[in-house]
Amino acid sequence: MQLKDQVALVTGGGSGLGRAIVERYVEEGAHVAIFDRSHERIEEVTRALGGKVIGIAGDVREMADNKRAVVECVKAFGKLDTLVGNAGVWDWSKSLVSTADDALVSAFDEMFAINVKGYVLAAKAALPELYKSKGQMIFTASNASFYPGGGGVLYTATKHAVVGMIKQMAHEFAPHVRVNGVAPGGIGGSNLAGIGALGQAGQKFSELPLNDLMKQMLPLERAFHAREYAGAYVFFANRKDNQPGTGGVLNFDGGIGMRGF
Ligand code: NAD
Repeated sequence: MQLKDQVALVTGGGSGLGRAIVERYVEEGAHVAIFDRSHERIEEVTRALGGKVIGIAGDVREMADNKRAVVECVKAFGKLDTLVGNAGVWDWSKSLVSTADDALVSAFDEMFAINVKGYVLAAKAALPELYKSKGQMIFTASNASFYPGGGGVLYTATKHAVVGMIKQMAHEFAPHVRVNGVAPGGIGGSNLAGIGALGQAGQKFSELPLNDLMKQMLPLERAFHAREYAGAYVFFANRKDNQPGTGGVLNFDGGIGMRGF
């Protein structure tokens, strides 16, 4: 019970990695508020986990929704110790060369609004409660935060931006609130959505041959399931073990950069 009586808010907690973090946090004794745009997914997770979680439906791109999520969380559980910023979308590695000019402008806005603005707004909304609890923020970065080839120009740019955001927030919020990130590689059990403006609404991440792809790409030669990534988020949320760390991003990606020449 590494997170006994701790309270967390997880954006994108209805599916994939976010859902695995929620389940693991509950196993470790935490109360969790799930903030997701999908009512159905929220219902499914809250039904499965009972009274230890609540769900808030909303869009991470909206300041009012982020604030409402924090208010509901504190109303239900009395405080907030950990914000996990995690909701995100992918561009299916769409190349800039093949992207039409008119789609590019709205695709850029959609991608940055969810993957970067969503994190900044969640941080701003959670900050007053995290100052009170001397808590922490944990953001989902990606292998694409460090290496090319895990997305197109838009996705890779957003995930690099997340690293800069984490460092600046860690600098600004010290010594009150710690800010760290986890950079996973390909995630089994994910339903990562594409960009509407690029016509990717119908593409299903779950149908990718992830295990085969990861076997070729990774020194550790397999895909890892969302559940296998969740422990890193326990580490950063565990007040006993995380006190010295702020501004760090943990590469937790099957060793993607360790191929050598
Ligand atoms: P997922 O689609 O399974 O889960 C993401 C959740 O975020 C969904 O439930 C979705 O409804 C929610 N969401 C999306 N946009 C939202 C919005 N505007 N407002 C509120 N909720 C919204 O995907 P996942 O793979 O678990 O992705 C989680 C994070 O992991 C993302 O930040 C992603 O970039 C990152 N990541 C994923 C992979 C991968 O291989 N899937 C690899 C590295 C990093």
